[in-house]
Amino acid sequence: MKNSKYDELQNRVNKELQKEKDKEVRKNALNIIRERHEDLSEIIDKEKLKKEYKQIKKYCLNNLERLKKKAFKNLRENECKIYEVSSKDALNLISQIMEGNHLVKSKTNVSKELNLVEELNNEGIDVIETDLGDRLVQLAGIYPAHPVLPSLCISNEEAYELLTGKHLPPESEISIDETVKIARSGLREKILEASVALTGANVITADEGFIGLIENEGNQRLITSLAKKHIIITSIDKIVRDAQDAITIMKTASFFGLGIKTAGYFSFISGPSKTGDIESTISYGMHGPEEVHVIFINNNRSEILNSEFKDILMCCSCGNCVNYCPIFEQIGGNTFGGLMPGGRGVLFTLFAKGEETAFTKGINLCATCGACTEACPGDIDIAKLIMKARKKISRNQLIIPRHREILESINKFNNPFNEQQTQRINWINNHEEIETFSNKNSETLLFIGCMSSFRTKNQAMSTFKLLKLLNIDFDYLGSKEPCCGGILYRLGYKEEFKDKIIENTKILNNYKRIILLCPGCYSTFKKFYSGGLEGVEIKHIIELLPEDSQLNSLKTKKVITYHDPCHLTRELEVINPPRITLNKIADFKEMKFNGINSRCCGAGGGVMSAFPKLSQATAATRIDDTKSIKNLEYILTSCPFCEKNLKRGKDSVDSDIKIMSIQEFIINLRENQE
Ligand code: SF4
Ligand code: SF4
Repeated sequence: MKNSKYDELQNRVNKELQKEKDKEVRKNALNIIRERHEDLSEIIDKEKLKKEYKQIKKYCLNNLERLKKKAFKNLRENECKIYEVSSKDALNLISQIMEGNHLVKSKTNVSKELNLVEELNNEGIDVIETDLGDRLVQLAGIYPAHPVLPSLCISNEEAYELLTGKHLPPESEISIDETVKIARSGLREKILEASVALTGANVITADEGFIGLIENEGNQRLITSLAKKHIIITSIDKIVRDAQDAITIMKTASFFGLGIKTAGYFSFISGPSKTGDIESTISYGMHGPEEVHVIFINNNRSEILNSEFKDILMCCSCGNCVNYCPIFEQIGGNTFGGLMPGGRGVLFTLFAKGEETAFTKGINLCATCGACTEACPGDIDIAKLIMKARKKISRNQLIIPRHREILESINKFNNPFNEQQTQRINWINNHEEIETFSNKNSETLLFIGCMSSFRTKNQAMSTFKLLKLLNIDFDYLGSKEPCCGGILYRLGYKEEFKDKIIENTKILNNYKRIILLCPGCYSTFKKFYSGGLEGVEIKHIIELLPEDSQLNSLKTKKVITYHDPCHLTRELEVINPPRITLNKIADFKEMKFNGINSRCCGAGGGVMSAFPKLSQATAATRIDDTKSIKNLEYILTSCPFCEKNLKRGKDSVDSDIKIMSIQEFIINLRENQE
């Protein structure tokens, strides 16, 4: 079945994957910020900052109506002009406020909701970005490489050419400092020419009616002091209680987004410039602006505030979610984003621009790995919200054909692979062995899951053998084993998933303990069946391995590392058990991004089935995370999806490293010993 929107998206993703230079630049930008975070980890208590930030944001969102009234009142008392308008009316309003045809602007996310630069350009207004990175990107006519390091793909020579319109003469050199001076003087002229400055607001305080701005370059201070009129484009979710809250939010945004202790400038503006020095009479516009216009754009934020998606508004636009997003690293924010890059951007785009835009901006590109939540000061569970949002996307118009096939296959065959259920037991050569070792009267169930039953069969086999060796008595459902349904939830088929829970619970409730090998099934049972499986103990095989008294005797000198599956690590916090086991059996070394900070292999969230090249490229990057480990022979994991996808990634980079499950590695050691 042809689906043009999906085909278009797939093509864009695949084209983006081929842009090696852009990818390299993005990777460098992300590494810079990640390294800054690491460098500051001793100085800044990230968790404390997160806690304070969350308390403030939660309080403010819960009391937003009251705080908004107070903020509006105080802003008015400070002589600011306040407007609450639609995006379209905001553009008309700006045109009316304009004087001359030059507008100087600093970074503002909300202005993207208006498509402000293009719309004003169409009206003959020249909009000049004053942040150097944004200015270079504007002159180059390209999409920003990164939300806070937009011009990272532009070299010093290219910057010189963009700023001067001239080629650097052959054999001549120019230092970065000289280029910056050229930028400064060119922009200074533009800033002096403009009567109107436009900025966003990082925060707005209710108690004082302050507008808080963060920046490094000083361009915001300059434009908001020199222009005759200052326009602020903002939204209600920026409102906090007071200046104290504002400072915490601005400190948080600096650290999380930029990886710096504090930004160069924190500014508070509380209204137009004024003097009372002549006859004690207030007059406006002494040195700074004589008018300050604060324009609030709602763009369905009120709807979000009163919905199950409220947490989207816990955001301060710091951009840190994309610094750790494996999909953003591969394809950037132009393909995966929308009004902001990454998963949070797509979510907000769904509300501000509708389903079709959210689809084309990649609501289905998220691997639901949860790395962004770990990175986010507001702990916004972007993966969970994306899964909820997917069910909002209309199914017939915007369906991904492979995802529809998965649904149909589960309905028809009880597995996502269009395989007859009789094939489910083919991971074991001798079917009688199952009969011998699985005990129908056991209170423990071994749940293999669809991926290992049909694809990564070695994981199923080695888990089966390990349980026997551990003398664990268990039952196995064989060809009657159902699909756990987790993939239905992740693809947005919530109603079908509910039916699956009801159907499966009847079977699973017959046991006191379920042992699994798939972290996807594990997280599905633990998180979504919780009520239905009350009293049933659920364990991943990896949690039982440290009980194996023979592990020490298996010790080999082989160098191994471990790829933490996202579901197991971030969702269920199973971090230490595999490490206890691995340290006993081999020369275990951690790879880059491990434990709670593990990086996704790109298999999850339906990405491997719908965007295979993207998931393969993501896996290849994950393989690359091991390159500093000397003499590495094995990457072990504890997830059938990760095993499959890491192998695909390895094939694309032509590596000698072997990839297998921990279970298979142990069984090989044991069998070689015998
Ligand atoms: S869940 Fe993972 S893939 Fe999705 S937006 Fe967050 S970091 Fe990116
Ligand atoms: S979602 Fe979180 S990490 Fe991403 S921009 Fe917003 S506050 Fe920052």
